[in-house]
Amino acid sequence: MIYYRAILLTLTLSLSTFACQSQNRSPEPVVTHHDHEVFLNQITYTIAMSDSTKNEKVVKTDEEWRQLLSSDEYRVLRNHGTELPWANKYNSHYEEGVYLCKGCGQPLFHSKTKYNSRSGWPSYWAPIREDAVIEKEDRSFFMVRTEILCSRCESHLGHVFDDGPDPSGLRYCMNSAALHFTPKDEPAN
Ligand SMILES: [Zn+2]
Repeated sequence: MIYYRAILLTLTLSLSTFACQSQNRSPEPVVTHHDHEVFLNQITYTIAMSDSTKNEKVVKTDEEWRQLLSSDEYRVLRNHGTELPWANKYNSHYEEGVYLCKGCGQPLFHSKTKYNSRSGWPSYWAPIREDAVIEKEDRSFFMVRTEILCSRCESHLGHVFDDGPDPSGLRYCMNSAALHFTPKDEPAN
């Protein structure tokens, strides 16, 4: 009797181990660039202004980022790239609303802090919340600059300089490719 119980126990343990392994092996759902755009478009102004996800970190593999982002977005956000001045989406864009992180959807800048810096890139004098961005010293290209990253997904957004307007005196010089704009009025469906 003890012998049969031992066999039964061994069998149960083997089956549960197999079940766990099977679970671990099941593939993650593939999230495409299109799915990511749909996800960003669902973040309305109201949702962005009442954002409660500030403490949730977003961590993805390099392969996952490549699936989510276009090649230009990937180059800026994940490879510290800089887009060309002037010929970018939000340089001359002054609609009222919120600019989200293109990588994770975290609200980063409100239109009320956007101004024309004449640099050719969208510029803001403050982030929407102090903890929406993180700063990092950047010593590339024989310069010492302060890089700005999204605090949630740690994607590269641009740089901050101390030649901005009042009240902060700061210029957050961002890449349009790193941002996704959501307008104040929700679009009618
Ligand atoms: Zn982000």
